[in-house]
Amino acid sequence: MTPHLPDPQAGAAVKAADRAHVFHSWSAQDLIDPLAVAGAEGSYFWDYDGNRYLDFTSGLVYTNIGYQHPKVVAAIQEQAARMTTFAPAFAVEARSEAARLIAERTPGDLDKIFFTNGGADAVEHAARMARLHTGRPKVLSAYRSYHGGTQQAVNITGDPRRWPSDSGTAGVVHFWAPFLYRSRFYAETEEQECARALEHLETTIAFEGPSTVAAIVLETVPGTAGIMVPPPGYLAGVREICDKHGIVFVLDEVMAGFGRTGEWFAADHFGVVPDLMTFAKGVNSGYVPLGGVAISGAIAETFGKRPYPGGLTYSGHPLACAAAVATIDVMAKEGVVEHARTLGADVLGPALREMAERHPSVGDVRGFGMFWALELVRDKETREPLVPYNAAGEANAPMAAFAAAARQHGIWPFVNMNRTHVVPPCNISESELKEGLAALDAALSVADEYT
Ligand code: PMP
Repeated sequence: MTPHLPDPQAGAAVKAADRAHVFHSWSAQDLIDPLAVAGAEGSYFWDYDGNRYLDFTSGLVYTNIGYQHPKVVAAIQEQAARMTTFAPAFAVEARSEAARLIAERTPGDLDKIFFTNGGADAVEHAARMARLHTGRPKVLSAYRSYHGGTQQAVNITGDPRRWPSDSGTAGVVHFWAPFLYRSRFYAETEEQECARALEHLETTIAFEGPSTVAAIVLETVPGTAGIMVPPPGYLAGVREICDKHGIVFVLDEVMAGFGRTGEWFAADHFGVVPDLMTFAKGVNSGYVPLGGVAISGAIAETFGKRPYPGGLTYSGHPLACAAAVATIDVMAKEGVVEHARTLGADVLGPALREMAERHPSVGDVRGFGMFWALELVRDKETREPLVPYNAAGEANAPMAAFAAAARQHGIWPFVNMNRTHVVPPCNISESELKEGLAALDAALSVADEYT
């Protein structure tokens, strides 16, 4: 690992400039205190004061092969030396090679790739493609979802992050997707939850008018809303409903894709092929901004003789695509997807379930691969969240105490509402993971004090 000597003075300067001039996402600017980060490598990052953290968040769940992978850094450097940028209307090796490698891995006939700068614009373009393909106006999406921070993506988002920016005229209708732990359908089993959620979706479509619905957009496994693995049969059921009504099925794999769940795409677990699939984040471990939409043959054909009315200056940026080519190569050659699958099944999942038995604050454990959520509760019986849900996502004492304890023990935790998500890099080593789990265990003891 790169040597890193503490340099608090340099850290203070970085922090001062940040505080003076950087306007941070999703934040009340005066109420935040961002950590000044000096460096990062593999599964770790460190600050200027000599503290090192094991990153249990993978950044924003995107450094699927960790920080500073030498092969990806070298590929970016080589591409920069050769051709840093070139406009999207031209055929460029890095771009065509990235598209080929992605299309080879996406399920079914999702063989054409439209590149974007990230996840939100991928979702925006998927919605637009579905509307143009069907000639219908509406998009249906789940309440418990996050699809991005640009206007249409925020409208499609279901969770309360939508509220402050919802224009209310976006042609988006929300519905309840399945989530047994907090069932909206009074279900007691996965089978009931699945059947009732599908019936609810059918009813929603019937009342909206099937001929007005262009697309159903779902995260294959809703991520920021709580890593809610859908029950067996649900996504296949949605596929059937889409086929019956001529609706485009969009799966958002921005967070769950590229190895996170222990398959190349989460859809692979469920044997479901959507018509459009969005991706970003893990496609190049987030080293250079990149996202995209993988497009089925039928939808690509719609735009065979008729122009697709949309594009982006940096679509398929060579630096980002070179990073994607190298990342996919690393994942394939180093067996990262299989590693995430087996480490999740043999070590991470069992360890989290064992902690849930011991800690009164852990109400639910769910996930697979390197994609897990712990739901923290005051009371396992009533399932009362450790904090009341707060639409503004304001800091709250129990979760803040948990997060502080986790950091003190050397892990950087992902905390959202009353949940902590355990989402380390997909290539984290078993010993690193075990070190992090010991820290998590200690931090959960702090959460237990609030039960
Ligand atoms: N979709 C999903 C499922 C996501 O998790 C995210 C980001 N967390 C987005 C879309 C938006 O991606 P971006 O922030 O790159 O625009």
